Amino acid sequence: MEERKETLEESPWWAEGLAFECTGCGKCCLAREHYQYVYVNIHERRKLAQHLGLAVAAFTQKYTDLVDAGYRSLRFENGACIFLQDGLCQVHEAKPVQCATWPFWEENLESPEAWENEVADFSPGAGRGPLISAKEIRAAMKKTERAGDSK
Ligand code: SF4
Repeated sequence: MEERKETLEESPWWAEGLAFECTGCGKCCLAREHYQYVYVNIHERRKLAQHLGLAVAAFTQKYTDLVDAGYRSLRFENGACIFLQDGLCQVHEAKPVQCATWPFWEENLESPEAWENEVADFSPGAGRGPLISAKEIRAAMKKTERAGDSK
């Protein structure tokens, strides 16, 4: 683990940056095999509740499910995030951190193979648009990690 972290910090395979551009396809808002989690910590729930004009408790009850170890995820219905409608995010301005930072998550960046399998194979945004620098990638990874530290 320590060894892998050092590699990530010093000279990751993506040190020259990665090309990625959101095309608005909505595919990252769909369940993928075993994965259908959009974690929302208390700060994100507050922000979403405020955006929708709801009390936090009402928002939590209506739009989230309790998942592992007390963490909450946005609810999925029919294989899609509850906020995806007609291919568009209905809470774009208040969307959770992990939605904003995808695909620059540690698990997707562990190796070129992980990037290929978890991102490039299904997202039309991979390999398109401007190069996202290593600095920006690291910032996205840190932001995602910090969001995951709270329930
Ligand atoms: S909150 Fe919005 S961006 Fe995030 S998964 Fe749901 S629909 Fe997609």
